[in-house]
Amino acid sequence: MADMLKFVDRSQSYPAKRDATARAADFREIAERYAPPAAEDQAGRCSQCGVPYCSVHCPLHNHIPDWLRLTAEGRLREAYELSNSTSTMPEICGRICPQDRLCEGNCVIEFTGHGAVTIGSVEKFITDTAWAEGWVEPLVPGPARGQSVGVIGAGPAGLTAAEYLRGHGYDVHVYDRHDRAGGLLTYGIPGFKLEKPVVMRRVDRLKEGGIVFHEGFEVGRDATLAELRARHDALLVATGVYKARAIDVAGNEAGGVIAALDYLTASNRKSFGDAVPEFEDGSLNAAGKHVVVIGGGDTAMDCVRTAVRQGAASVRCLYRRDRANMPGSQREVANAEEEGVEFVWLAAPERFAVDADRVTAVRANRMRLGRADASGRRAPEVDPGATQDLPADMVIKALGFDAEELPHLWNAPELGVTRWGTLLVDPKSLMTSLDGVFAAGDIVRGASLVVWAIRDGRDVAATMHKWLKAKARAGEKVAA
Ligand code: FAD
Ligand code: SF4
Ligand code: SF4
Repeated sequence: MADMLKFVDRSQSYPAKRDATARAADFREIAERYAPPAAEDQAGRCSQCGVPYCSVHCPLHNHIPDWLRLTAEGRLREAYELSNSTSTMPEICGRICPQDRLCEGNCVIEFTGHGAVTIGSVEKFITDTAWAEGWVEPLVPGPARGQSVGVIGAGPAGLTAAEYLRGHGYDVHVYDRHDRAGGLLTYGIPGFKLEKPVVMRRVDRLKEGGIVFHEGFEVGRDATLAELRARHDALLVATGVYKARAIDVAGNEAGGVIAALDYLTASNRKSFGDAVPEFEDGSLNAAGKHVVVIGGGDTAMDCVRTAVRQGAASVRCLYRRDRANMPGSQREVANAEEEGVEFVWLAAPERFAVDADRVTAVRANRMRLGRADASGRRAPEVDPGATQDLPADMVIKALGFDAEELPHLWNAPELGVTRWGTLLVDPKSLMTSLDGVFAAGDIVRGASLVVWAIRDGRDVAATMHKWLKAKARAGEKVAA
């Protein structure tokens, strides 16, 4: 323990953030990496709690104190192996988990006033080092079982399940409607939070491990669910949630009023070097424009910060509650403010002013907070008589996502859904109402977090493995 418990005389130190002006000019990640021995020093601040609340509040229940101790002792390879034993992408979680709400927000030394251990940054450092040093092992499939699994959706839930199932020896086929795997890691989350090579090296490792990817393959268009069920012994639906919530105000259909995910996808495609006509013609490019983003979640934060990087003339974020009641991470708000974004709290659009079919301004109502709603947050209501006009030639709607109507789109009316349209699964087996069809990630829990998608992928791989083994045994009995 000689290297540990240093939190009293060693202050909390995150890796330095790049200067706000410099980082607003590119799409590189904003944080520098820890330079050795900073990660080791920071890991040594951990007090090695008997009941580690950091792990309790990590959805993956990562062995945090143990890999912090190994890091502090300079045993980085062992730290990597332990960290990797509970997560398929620790370096990605280290970058984009809202640690202030999860592991770090529950670190006991945060409550003693010394500042949490910088868990996420150390986690990122460990696995980035493993990649650099060549410690990340190839995916080795288990002995072939002669059974095949289809995974619909190559986001973190689908990729995680695919990795574990391949490790168990199944033939795994992943179908995704995009031309690149990764789901929102690839086309939603911008490079300044998660650089794309970090995602692609994970995907490449899975491809090299024998997982077959069918990119540009949309279930509902290129095959029905029934056809895929006939092709595989079991199916996993991990399609995420993509139906953008609508906003019902006058001017909503005008030119320049765009959907957040269209905007972010175009920007991410440009980062890959793709030709994107809607970006080239200006429809999905904020350069030189007065931009207003509507919403207060992670997606809205990503949009405002992307607009800054594209060279917008001004960027405002309109949110109907106040700062304390917004769903987005406070760290992201601080980053956005540093980069020049103006937040207009307690404001909601009444209508969009339009000239010659193009948006010119947002008329916003002032809001006030009433009683707490079902979510526990105070519900916003219009404060009568107080409006303001914000000039805008691009308005980005970032109001959240709901599930698409899969039973209808996939011609599978017997696929059970909740009243929110998410897929109904048995809580123990994680199977949907269709035999052998499982589901995981956002399509089950609604819009959530990457770390929860990974957890769901891990859990569903275990239940699918159990079910597939039972199916194989039943087949052997019949044959006998
Ligand atoms: P997804 O990542 O959505 O992947 C689903 C995949 O299924 C997609 O690739 C899609 O193309 C494919 N698909 C859908 N329908 C079909 C079909 N019919 N046929 C074939 N393929 C199909 N979480 C964090 O933890 N930290 C963050 O900083 C963060 N930032 C975010 C920023 C944005 C802009 C958004 C939108 C979300 C963010 N999230 C963040 C949430 C996080 O990205 C999701 O919770 C997570 O990606 C869900 O994983 P998933 O595998 O369930 O689905
Ligand atoms: Fe923290 Fe997320 Fe890593 Fe868990 S996965 S330790 S919550 S950063
Ligand atoms: Fe270490 Fe904090 Fe976790 Fe305790 S809660 S084990 S101090 S990281």
